[in-house]
Amino acid sequence: SQATLTPALNLSTSDALFTRAKDHIPGGVNSPVRAFRAVGGHPVFMQSAQGAWLTDVDGNRYLDFINSWGPMILGHAPQIVLDAVQGAIGNSLSFGAPTRREVEMAELIKQMVPSIEKVRLVNSGTEATMSAIRVARGYTGRTKILKFEGCYHGHGDSFLIAAGSGALTLGTPDSPGVTPGVAQDTLTVPYNDLAAVEQAIAANDGQIAALILEPVVGNMGLVAPAEGYLQGLRALCIQHGIVLIFDEVMTGFRLARGGAQELYGITPDMTTLGKIIGGGMPVGAYGGRQDIMDNVAPAGKVYQAGTLSGNPIATAAGIAQLTYLQQHPELYDELNRITTRLADGTRQICQELGLNYTVNQVGSMFSVFFTDKLVHNLEDAKTSDTEAFGRYFQGMLHRGIYLAPAQYEALFVSTAITDELVDHYLTACREAMREAH
Ligand code: PLP
Repeated sequence: SQATLTPALNLSTSDALFTRAKDHIPGGVNSPVRAFRAVGGHPVFMQSAQGAWLTDVDGNRYLDFINSWGPMILGHAPQIVLDAVQGAIGNSLSFGAPTRREVEMAELIKQMVPSIEKVRLVNSGTEATMSAIRVARGYTGRTKILKFEGCYHGHGDSFLIAAGSGALTLGTPDSPGVTPGVAQDTLTVPYNDLAAVEQAIAANDGQIAALILEPVVGNMGLVAPAEGYLQGLRALCIQHGIVLIFDEVMTGFRLARGGAQELYGITPDMTTLGKIIGGGMPVGAYGGRQDIMDNVAPAGKVYQAGTLSGNPIATAAGIAQLTYLQQHPELYDELNRITTRLADGTRQICQELGLNYTVNQVGSMFSVFFTDKLVHNLEDAKTSDTEAFGRYFQGMLHRGIYLAPAQYEALFVSTAITDELVDHYLTACREAMREAH
């Protein structure tokens, strides 16, 4: 209604690059959510980043609340990670043979996530989840998996059933190209509904190899587990011989040093990791109980491999970032305090404007749902006014605040966000929220 207030933003170089990109890359981007389809306008092409700030190819600066979708928990270009990478580069970029750092990385992961007794490094979260369910199937001799509506576990065929994140935003939670044969082995139930899980298990007696979930969901916007929910799932899996897989690609090393499993005190059988574990380099990992992980080749017969897995540069970055997190447990309290200010402040601004919007927060992740419904699952999330969200997003972008360009995503806060920057965000939020309605 007051669109004239939106500050101007020169995106001419970004626009020209996007025009070129569309001639060569499907949709002009290498990952769908980057295209800004859900919020209108064109994507911003980035040039550099330091701490809390991004600089685009036109020289505009933005306060970053995406942080590469989670990995940059220490903000951009932390010196300790850059130094580690620079130190590693001199010794070759890849060997395809074992290296010392892979051992050190495995030891570090085990120290921080004690449910992991053995761990295999891969190159992305997608590889981690795909591999984890293969291992769970090999271990149990069963074929089906159970996942939750609106959870996203990467783009493996088995997971593009009722998927969240970009698939949901683009309206393809069930992707063409996934065969009916694969799809029938993936069961889906609503999140935060223990009875639905019990029913699915009863209806597929002895056939479910694994139950996989985001213990705190980031991919339908931020949704927390209800009291007792994770404990309930843990008990059901023990009772029915189902491998419980926590997909902690987003939450690992973020909600606590040991991830959501530490925060909620639950021990899963397997865990998948990504994002923070690579410090901004392509790294994923899956691990868990030794008797399960010893089924992985060459210890066991479940095959999984990778030319670049355990890459020396990627592990250098990962070790540097994880070591810093391990040595600075106090930073989680500070991240939580800052994020609570962001979430509470946003909630208060909405209330001032007569908007009873739901703001969900766990640790350094939060989401503003443009709905007055409490959001416990995908159905609740989908009551959001995505048009108003799009206007808000653009209003924030034009004020130099870079948010996730879709309603069904969480925001990630880095340690580079200071109290002063929270104030800066809240000033922009007040204006953009008013303007969007
Ligand atoms: N699992 C979760 C919970 C995720 O959020 C993501 C990506 O956002 C993935 C898996 C896939 O990871 P990647 O994009 O590195 O393949």
